[in-house]
Amino acid sequence: MTEIMKAAVITEIKKVNVIDVPMPKIGPRDVLLKIKSAGLCTWEQRIYTGQAKAEYPFLGGHENAGEIAAVGELVTNVAVGDRVTMGSSACGTCRACLRGEDKGCAEHFLNFSLKGGIYGPGGFAEYKVHRSDGVFTVADAPWDKAALAEPLSCAIHAARLLGAKLGDTAVVFGSGTMGLMNLLVLKKSGLRVAVVDVNEDRLEKAKKLGADLVFKSDEKIRERIKGAFLGGVDYAITAYGSDDVNQDALDVLNNRGKICLFASAHPVVPFAIDPNVMHNKETSAVGVVSADRCDHALATEMIAHNQIDLSELIDATYPLSQAQEAFHRATSTPSYRVMLNP
Ligand SMILES: [Zn+2]
Repeated sequence: MTEIMKAAVITEIKKVNVIDVPMPKIGPRDVLLKIKSAGLCTWEQRIYTGQAKAEYPFLGGHENAGEIAAVGELVTNVAVGDRVTMGSSACGTCRACLRGEDKGCAEHFLNFSLKGGIYGPGGFAEYKVHRSDGVFTVADAPWDKAALAEPLSCAIHAARLLGAKLGDTAVVFGSGTMGLMNLLVLKKSGLRVAVVDVNEDRLEKAKKLGADLVFKSDEKIRERIKGAFLGGVDYAITAYGSDDVNQDALDVLNNRGKICLFASAHPVVPFAIDPNVMHNKETSAVGVVSADRCDHALATEMIAHNQIDLSELIDATYPLSQAQEAFHRATSTPSYRVMLNP
């Protein structure tokens, strides 16, 4: 196997270079993945635009699917040629792991860290090293859909932490890729779901993907949501990080409702909650980022068995050599996922 591979590295704000980097080496418990598809997530888009801080050069890419090209000597769960999605690892022995909450394991971000001097998760490249417990077989699902197992796992994680079930009601604020991922999972779970956004095209997409109601955000949004849901909803998910959205979400909750802070906020504005309102309404607040391995396993299974259709969330695909164009596309027009196919 060759000693050099191509990688699409962000070298400064709004600048992506496809460069030669050393082929990563695998350890006894690792697999080498030939990357087939990689989604440009919001975090990486923010690093590209300079909105989020990162060390440059930065090698992004953590929404990945690919083929196993080599396995370390201790790997037993997958073999060369297997088609897999890529998720997190876990030690299996710490308190978080033993409680089934391995998102809190110190090894959770193991596969998303420094690679040979270049900072970043490393999926915008021809090959990537991953520990074997972080890969999940995906049958013959199309590569681009398979690469979306990671963002889908986050929405599954949110629904699980909320306890969303048949007959419940929810409103999702934000109709971008992650808002729609939440919509799809909540609909699949049997909920009545509304989606709120400022962009009418995005709301059209939400309708197409099964939203029971869509609302264009305005100053009467709270009344309109409450009116449509007999006074309030059981869950409000903020897939867009802003204090206005957080306050709207909090206000439209039912008694014993739960607000889910799904998106990060840029800039950060403190979230003010009236403790007496929370006390009297028995409100819960749940923060969600990433997912436990069981959520990723379920996301992969749903994609493998075609139980959820993510094709509407894929806007465009580019070869690795056009990574600059891909980042430009993902950050310039309101878009859903843009994929790189190394
Ligand atoms: Zn652990």
